[in-house]
Amino acid sequence: MKTNIPFKLFANCILVKGISRSTICDLQRNDVRVIPNDLYDLLIENEGKTIIGIKELYENKFDDIIEEYFQFLYDNEFIFFTKQTTIFPKLSMDWSDSTIINNSIIDIDENSNYDIVNILKQLNTLHCRHLEIRNFNNARVNILEDILSFLNESESTIQSVEILLPFFKDIEEWITSIKDKFLRVDFIRVFKSPFNQNRVPNKDCKAHIMFTKQNYISELCCGKISQKFFSANMKAFTESMNYNSCLNKKLSIDKNGIIKNCPSMQNGYGSSDSVRLEDVISDSNFTKIWNISKDKISVCKDCEFRHICTDCRAYTENPEDEFSKPLKCGYNPKTNEWSDWSTNPLKEKAISFYNLQAVTEKP
Ligand code: SF4
Repeated sequence: MKTNIPFKLFANCILVKGISRSTICDLQRNDVRVIPNDLYDLLIENEGKTIIGIKELYENKFDDIIEEYFQFLYDNEFIFFTKQTTIFPKLSMDWSDSTIINNSIIDIDENSNYDIVNILKQLNTLHCRHLEIRNFNNARVNILEDILSFLNESESTIQSVEILLPFFKDIEEWITSIKDKFLRVDFIRVFKSPFNQNRVPNKDCKAHIMFTKQNYISELCCGKISQKFFSANMKAFTESMNYNSCLNKKLSIDKNGIIKNCPSMQNGYGSSDSVRLEDVISDSNFTKIWNISKDKISVCKDCEFRHICTDCRAYTENPEDEFSKPLKCGYNPKTNEWSDWSTNPLKEKAISFYNLQAVTEKP
């Protein structure tokens, strides 16, 4: 370490302060490290100074801990040393996206009979890029194939498709039959499978295929917050700083064909067979939720993970409060402990309000 040369944080390493600890989010390497709030303050107040100078500022009373902190930062390539401290600007934390709707969820079940092609045509005019199609009970493979064929034939703006469907006897053959025909499919998640298996994309299959024994009985299963879903990349991080990390530029159709922000939400904006998606998007009630960033949500605004975490506005701890913490998060930023959200007695009322008892029961 060059203790007599000023230090700088690499621009892709962003500090986030929580109520009792902080994080360094490395947006280039998708890596997150927890650090003490003392180190956060030290970095914010002293970036651009030398380590020798910083030690002196504290009258050399904390030399060992300062040394240890900077060795950690240097070993992990979070900092570098330079005399030209002014020529390395901070990264812009702005977020922009040229689409009107960026991603969409379409739910179908055995009774769904709304006009999906009509929706796909409209999503095209809104420049939608990503589509998630979810089957919660019987797999309706004919509908899935119709959707995928339409996307192939219409030169749709949709670039990637994710499919959720339950296991069925001939699913392997079905996957084989579609994998080379529908190249937009990049993720197939098969639930209620007799086995767990994760097949990453390879030369034979471009799509990521995941088999899980877990059962997704309905849209009630949505909205879980877990460290497994944390993502420290530039796009997700900057979007989360400015907008809602789940619902921004999202439009969904529930299993009954009702237009919603998310299929799990109570508020609907009319039937997709009779209301134009464009009209829904021009309704400020629909789009205002896009602006609920994590910095505005109770508890989350004090959490060191707030900009790498997903969100859920469908199930919240206080159903009356649109800025309430996601119900299905078991993290406490004050104690830094994770617990099972579904057994927390303080959440019982909200679990019952949303009728979530079925998804909280252990197998
Ligand atoms: S409190 Fe939970 S939902 Fe909120 S930011 Fe932290 S981990 Fe995510």
